[in-house]
Amino acid sequence: MKPCYLLFLCSLVLSCAQAQKPNNIATQWQLPDQEWKMRLSPEEYAVLRKKGTERAFTGQYWNKKDPGLYRCRACNTPLFSSETKYESGSGWPSFWQPLHDSTISISQDLSLGMLRDEVLCAQCGGHLGHVFPDGPRPTGLRYCLNSVSLSFEPKREN
Ligand SMILES: [Zn+2]
Repeated sequence: MKPCYLLFLCSLVLSCAQAQKPNNIATQWQLPDQEWKMRLSPEEYAVLRKKGTERAFTGQYWNKKDPGLYRCRACNTPLFSSETKYESGSGWPSFWQPLHDSTISISQDLSLGMLRDEVLCAQCGGHLGHVFPDGPRPTGLRYCLNSVSLSFEPKREN
């Protein structure tokens, strides 16, 4: 096989691999599926890696009002603050803004026969939930997340 043909093949494989990923996942979090299965509980794996959804009003955080930080349960990146959490009535933890735009990534989700914007952890690519345009001011957005994708860190008293 000629070297240039090989190069072409490699770049083709690389671009296909990239197309399947939501965006630039940090290299240390590009783990094989088996590794995720070992690191996460069955519930966490089903939601974070297989894009499942926990049942409404059953999660750990939908009703939580304590001040603190919500991190990605898979990679521990800080994602949302309790300061932007609000009671949406949906039964899932809801926020009107992420901590930083760069900590999450948005991907189009065509499952269940509808177009939705999927919210992923930008660091590890873990599925967090969806974002809808029916949130409160000032953003008008509702980041509707699964409790099982998050871990809560209470704000320390000074
Ligand atoms: Zn993550």
